[in-house]
Amino acid sequence: MQTVKSYPMRPDLPEPPRNMLGLPCDKRGYPVPWFVDWINGEPEFRAMDKSKLLRAIRERLCWVCGKPLWREMVFVIGPMCAVNHVSSEPPSHRECAQYSARTCPFLSRPHMVRREDGLPENISMAGIGVKRNPGVTLLWFTRRYEVMKVAAIPEAGAHAGLLFRLGRPFLTEWYCKGRPATREEILDSINGGIPLLYDANEKQGLGEEGKRVVDRQIAEALKLVPHGRPKAEREGIQRNRIRRALRDGQTAEELWEAEKAACISRQDDL
Ligand SMILES: [Zn+2]
Repeated sequence: MQTVKSYPMRPDLPEPPRNMLGLPCDKRGYPVPWFVDWINGEPEFRAMDKSKLLRAIRERLCWVCGKPLWREMVFVIGPMCAVNHVSSEPPSHRECAQYSARTCPFLSRPHMVRREDGLPENISMAGIGVKRNPGVTLLWFTRRYEVMKVAAIPEAGAHAGLLFRLGRPFLTEWYCKGRPATREEILDSINGGIPLLYDANEKQGLGEEGKRVVDRQIAEALKLVPHGRPKAEREGIQRNRIRRALRDGQTAEELWEAEKAACISRQDDL
């Protein structure tokens, strides 16, 4: 049995949701999510406890608090997961996901980077993990997902393990620095990740067809990015723009530049 030492919670943190009240706090006073591995009595935030991963899937437990999930499931993901619809971690309760996006130091501070030093060698994300901090956290609300078993592709740097294919979202919420993200922050973050996506595609030898799939996925993901205009108007404008761009054979990068320019000019209008 692993000893778990808990410290008082930081006074500047908001009250956690009821499900998270039983979680221990680390030395800094942050609640330690259920999935975190404990090494020598200290939480190792960069590592997940593999037995918890299997339990979360089999028993439908929340990844943050470890209590049973209802029908609604919320994936806490980076913006690039909105492009490929794949996550390396299982879903959480709405309240637990929102609390994490607002207060977790790694999720809420874009300049924090994942430290790789001192990390035990056997800890690795399944598939090709993106190690950058995207700066923007996306909450993906859905009612279904599929577990995929992926094989290692050593030449592409991909590890074997389990990945989660996300069901269609009925709601998305975007956060940056612990508050709702602006459209420009989201677009900046997606843009920063696009080269990594093409790179991973190339390493897996998916060729031109694979690139076209990625282009299409990026265009679809852009539809989820919130907009400052009324819903009906913005959907019409965005749909037409994306349709026109794809018909004209525009690449995802060009489409992104057009989106960003449109975003800047709209802000100027205000
Ligand atoms: Zn929970």
